[in-house]
Amino acid sequence: MENPSGMKVLILDIETSPIDAYTWGLWQQNVGLSQIKAPTRMLSWAAKWEGEDDVYLASERTHSHEDMVLNIYDMVNEADAIVHYNGTAFDMKHLNREFIEHDLPPPLKYKNIDLLRVVKSQFKFPSNKLDYVAGVLLGEHKLDTGGFGLWVGVLNGDKAAWKLMEDYNVEDVLLTERLYHRVQGWVPAHPNRALWIDDQENPTCPNCGSVHVVRRGIERPARVNAYQRYKCNDCGANSRGRTIVSKAGKGVLM
Ligand SMILES: [Zn+2]
Repeated sequence: MENPSGMKVLILDIETSPIDAYTWGLWQQNVGLSQIKAPTRMLSWAAKWEGEDDVYLASERTHSHEDMVLNIYDMVNEADAIVHYNGTAFDMKHLNREFIEHDLPPPLKYKNIDLLRVVKSQFKFPSNKLDYVAGVLLGEHKLDTGGFGLWVGVLNGDKAAWKLMEDYNVEDVLLTERLYHRVQGWVPAHPNRALWIDDQENPTCPNCGSVHVVRRGIERPARVNAYQRYKCNDCGANSRGRTIVSKAGKGVLM
């Protein structure tokens, strides 16, 4: 689905290092702060703009850590909305930590479109992992990393491991974008794409920006007023008009 509105949507995913720590055992360990040798840091990010083909990537292999952070900071500042999978709790918080550690002020405001939250709130799958959900809804899977050994290779500076991690990062962004378009009509309270179209007169789908919306009855969302209800023929999203189409009579009690 192309992007008919001017809303700039960034699809983003980061890879991080595991915490490097001393432990006294394997089972039910409580690792104290003094046992940490190196905390988690961002190893790479991959991102693309919706509607464009290029996928951008920066890693500690391709850039200095600082340049990697500055480059994604610039992209985040340009985005009206950011699509990710679990990014509200993970990717964006790691990025914010990197930003403040590099003395950068908070980025300009953007809307999070967190597909994990969409999947959890709208559907009941046996697993909410991206690999599982994409398998069911797209018939596609994440690139196989081969497990934890990849991260050991990365931290040991193995070039092939770095390249595989970067490929994995890029593939996740592409998969996330396809999953976004698959579930777009289900995203609750999607940033309203019509607001990015100047003087929009035609009824416009908030979720995908399409004007292929049809009237589908009347909606009574609260206790008093009624509004025209719409359905998008492109993404399936439900929406409603903002003006009252039938006023409650005096007999409507509260
Ligand atoms: Zn739509």
